[in-house]
Amino acid sequence: MHKCIRCGASLTADDIGCHKKMINRAAEEFMCIPCLSKHFGATEARVRELIEEYRAYGCTLFAKKE
Ligand SMILES: [Zn+2]
Repeated sequence: MHKCIRCGASLTADDIGCHKKMINRAAEEFMCIPCLSKHFGATEARVRELIEEYRAYGCTLFAKKE
């Protein structure tokens, strides 16, 4: 199980997908969405909105919701 490199939180597939999308597709260490939000100076709600947009476009980094 991957952990956030900033805060140590357990990461979900969305956290990892978001890190790859926003930082580096080839990354092997990841940040959680709250830490990514801080890193970019955005709100967590905004980052989660972006993820839903990417998911809606069919971005392969984000699994479809059942
Ligand atoms: Zn974190």
